[in-house]
Amino acid sequence: MAEGTSFFAGLDIGGTTVKSVLVDERAEQVGPLVEVRSRVKEGYLTTFGQLDEALDKLAEGAGIPRSAIAGIGLDVPAPSSEGVIWGKANLGDDWVGTDIRGKLAERCGVPVFMTNDGNAAAVGEYAVRRKHLGSLLFVAPGTGLGGGLVLPGGRTYEGANGLALEVGHISVPFLEDDGQLPRCSCGLKGCVEAWVSLVALRRRLAFELQKPQWATHPLAVSDAPVEEKAFRLRDFAAEGDALAVSIFKRQGFILGYALADLVRVFDPGLVVIGGGLAETTFRDDYMSWVLEGFDDRAWPVYRRSPLDSKVETTQFEWAIGGDASAAIGMAYTAREMVMAS
Ligand SMILES: [Zn+2]
Repeated sequence: MAEGTSFFAGLDIGGTTVKSVLVDERAEQVGPLVEVRSRVKEGYLTTFGQLDEALDKLAEGAGIPRSAIAGIGLDVPAPSSEGVIWGKANLGDDWVGTDIRGKLAERCGVPVFMTNDGNAAAVGEYAVRRKHLGSLLFVAPGTGLGGGLVLPGGRTYEGANGLALEVGHISVPFLEDDGQLPRCSCGLKGCVEAWVSLVALRRRLAFELQKPQWATHPLAVSDAPVEEKAFRLRDFAAEGDALAVSIFKRQGFILGYALADLVRVFDPGLVVIGGGLAETTFRDDYMSWVLEGFDDRAWPVYRRSPLDSKVETTQFEWAIGGDASAAIGMAYTAREMVMAS
């Protein structure tokens, strides 16, 4: 390594693990992805110890001294502003209200940048698409529905308080079979997350399995808890099972319907869908259901240019950064911030 060369670490703190990567001054990844346990429930200082271990391993894996790490990007699974986590988080109590960014910067002696996991993954998808220079809207259906908006140049739009792009909690006008708006994990009713998350799959499956048409379905005759059955839905859908396909079809449609409103607000040009569905064999079908929902709600101009029908005004792609996209996004952010200063 050349004398004086700088490196930038991205640390993606999840509920169970910390995924981390290192990039160089040209934003190229150096060395392997490093994964350590996050131990977030034991308090932030315990996790800081884990971050130290990850940083040591990153430096070792890249064959550089740890002192060559000139900046750190950190993401947490909670809304935060100015490096402080706001409100409820799936972390130990002492994380909330603490200046996490400031304390880590002091401990490591380098600048630290911090955001939430949705924003981080959005930047990661931007960073791995070297040829895409416009903006990018990212959504990831999973346990919930995370999201982020990257502006041209690679910065995320976080809002005045770090509370922007809570895309899972915009409302959609769909009623459940009981005639009610479904309740969301956030406490509100009718959120899109209540249709496209893992929790939604459980509720939908329970409703479907009460219908006579599925009486002989393997999931209807099984004694397994509904959580486990919902978990198996992706495998069933991959095999073309009619019940599983109908559930994912509705989910995709409603996600597309909500995306139409987001695209109407942001006109991002590129929508990237992440989360576990990006890894499934039926993802092409899922994307077609998303587009059906999108077309149901969006004006045609948001799909194709009225001047040239070959020009797509909004492109839809699956995420390509995989598991590492949030860590890559934060390494990229640390590099951008340090090199710009
Ligand atoms: Zn909600």
